[in-house]
Amino acid sequence: MFDMLGNIMKNLLSKPATRMYPFEKRENFKNTRGQLGDIDIDACIFCSICAKKCPSDAIIVNRNEKSWEVDRYKCIVCGVCTEVCPKKCLHMEEQYKTASYTKENAKFVQQPKPEAPAGQSQEQKQ
Ligand code: SF4
Ligand code: SF4
Repeated sequence: MFDMLGNIMKNLLSKPATRMYPFEKRENFKNTRGQLGDIDIDACIFCSICAKKCPSDAIIVNRNEKSWEVDRYKCIVCGVCTEVCPKKCLHMEEQYKTASYTKENAKFVQQPKPEAPAGQSQEQKQ
């Protein structure tokens, strides 16, 4: 009985063992992979190397549509796609995925670049 009372008093007077999330967030551990960030779609050349190397088939590249998409729920955040991309347009972010009601792919489409007026070279445009 006294043991139990001692434990109760100790628990009442000690700090909680857990954090007051979301008010108090924990810093990420060093080298945490987090999640795959958004692609720099303007730099992508739609070579599909990332999709071929992805171990979980989470990436779909459509060269004709100039689109790139990832199923973030298939992604196992291995980071392979960021390492093999020849244009370095993929990167890992430290934040973790937040909870979501839907499971839609994150899809990015490259917009056509504005054409230079006739007779004007690429250098003159800048
Ligand atoms: S490897 Fe890079 S450049 Fe190639 S399709 Fe993937 S994201 Fe685009
Ligand atoms: S981080 Fe890994 S699993 Fe996720 S999309 Fe890139 S290669 Fe695929």
